Amino acid sequence: MSDCIFCAIASRDIHGRIVHETEHSLAFLDVNPLAPGHTLVVPKDHYARLDDMPDEISADLFGAVDELVPRVEDAVDADASNVGINNGPAAGQEVEHVHVHIVPRFEDDGGSPIHAVAG
Ligand code: 5GP
Repeated sequence: MSDCIFCAIASRDIHGRIVHETEHSLAFLDVNPLAPGHTLVVPKDHYARLDDMPDEISADLFGAVDELVPRVEDAVDADASNVGINNGPAAGQEVEHVHVHIVPRFEDDGGSPIHAVAG
């Protein structure tokens, strides 16, 4: 989609700090991180919501998330992470291209459990 920022990162039209790539998915650092290492995992093609994604794309995306969570935690020496999706504007989704947040968490970091993940 031409005016989608995550499509532009996926097509390398704009710079993203890419940390991982699979056939159908891309992971890059959030530009406004809630914690060090805050990572977004997106399908390379444009889907606004979770249930817009074909099963193959969904499997690739969540496979990438599964692989990345321990790697992101290790990279910033986190104790845990919040992993979540704001699925639709009423849930806090600001960028209408599916993205999974991986937000590293640290003991006593003062953060809160997921309500709206970000935004
Ligand atoms: P949402 O509220 O839609 O779930 O989260 C959107 C996320 O995308 C926010 O955490 C925001 O910081 C991030 N974001 C917005 N624009 C950009 C961008 O141009 N580059 C990167 N890397 N992250 C972005």
